[in-house]
Amino acid sequence: MNINPKRLAEHFDILSQYGKIGENGICRPTLSRIEKETFEIVSKWMREAGMSVRIDNFGNLIGRLEGKWANAPVLMMGSHLDSQPYGGRFDGVSGVLAGVEVAKAMTEQGIIPDVPIEVISFCDEESWRFKKGLFGSRGIAGMLEPDELSRKDKDGVSREQALREFGCHPEYLQESIYPPGKIGAYFELHIEQGPVLESLQQPLGIVTGIAGPSWFTITLEGFAGHAGSVPMHLRQDALLGAAEIVIAVNRIVRQEPQSSTVGTVGSLRVFPDSPNIIPEKVEFTVDLRDVDKIRRDLYEKQIKDIVAQTAKTYNLSYTIQQDMKNDPRYCTDWMMQILHDESSNMSLSCPELMSGPFHDAVIMSYLADFAMIFVRCKDGISHNPAEFATSEDLSLGTELLFRAALRTIEKLTDKIVNCV
Ligand SMILES: [Zn+2]
Repeated sequence: MNINPKRLAEHFDILSQYGKIGENGICRPTLSRIEKETFEIVSKWMREAGMSVRIDNFGNLIGRLEGKWANAPVLMMGSHLDSQPYGGRFDGVSGVLAGVEVAKAMTEQGIIPDVPIEVISFCDEESWRFKKGLFGSRGIAGMLEPDELSRKDKDGVSREQALREFGCHPEYLQESIYPPGKIGAYFELHIEQGPVLESLQQPLGIVTGIAGPSWFTITLEGFAGHAGSVPMHLRQDALLGAAEIVIAVNRIVRQEPQSSTVGTVGSLRVFPDSPNIIPEKVEFTVDLRDVDKIRRDLYEKQIKDIVAQTAKTYNLSYTIQQDMKNDPRYCTDWMMQILHDESSNMSLSCPELMSGPFHDAVIMSYLADFAMIFVRCKDGISHNPAEFATSEDLSLGTELLFRAALRTIEKLTDKIVNCV
């Protein structure tokens, strides 16, 4: 191995104390005192790896290892150090610590990369504090929306205030944006957050793309009445309609059993929510995701058609409100090929899989070529203190990242040479 598994495991152990709750849980809100302390210890490791360190105006922690070609497009690696309020020790942390370890291993071996390397911990990937995540990656990509700094957390602290308290200068956000072409390639190593690799008994997977979510809220409206006195044939029961639609969502997304499509109704509210009143109004969400945009849009249409039909059957009115819709993003072929080649050199046969959850990589895909490595996690559990990945798997993933980083640097250098 080129990387040092013992050092890597120690770094995970140390970070698991920052924001620790209970036995194995982590609560590290974005832009908090505890995240600042986490940045300080990770900065120390970045400096030990030969990097210069800065926190930009979006609250991203960035370590930079200079390359022979100072102005060449950067090879960037990273993820995030903030966590869910009741989160685990590996989500996000894995990508940052793997990046730091890759840089450290290169420095130890006396490798001076041809292009600069940057390791980044993105600000507020998790979204729960200000109800809008991927802040740091959207920031450097110039993709923030106008009102973002005025969003407040539950204590009334605005994002702007939190950034200032963190030591950032939100009036100079513009200076922290990466212009197009500045980042040549981006790698993110992340725990899978799902059960596929474990079921295949494989430590690592190569991500093909990040699913495009379509989220919408359906509201059905009927008529309330006494559960004891209104005869069945005269009812307009909104919950009956909702029940049929919930079942239909499940049926529609299973049409191609081998496909990566997933659909979930995860939140449902019934009004007036009383045991002896016929439900007048039901509001529920649909979370539909697929890496195949055409199929996702087809299923979305099928679901909406079923809503219309069901409303008619039960004599209900309905509205459908689109809450979010993003396109799937596909990992870059040449970077995936490097991951395949290098993993077979390590005698691994990494399966390809789609990412259902988002990652900062989804935003980075607009700025640079990108690829992702998934690391097996126990029982597919994440966003939970029970989240677990073994040191062995994390070391294998980091070693693959090291090898892929070297090959990517060669490729980026070839591009510069060809331009010159
Ligand atoms: Zn994450």
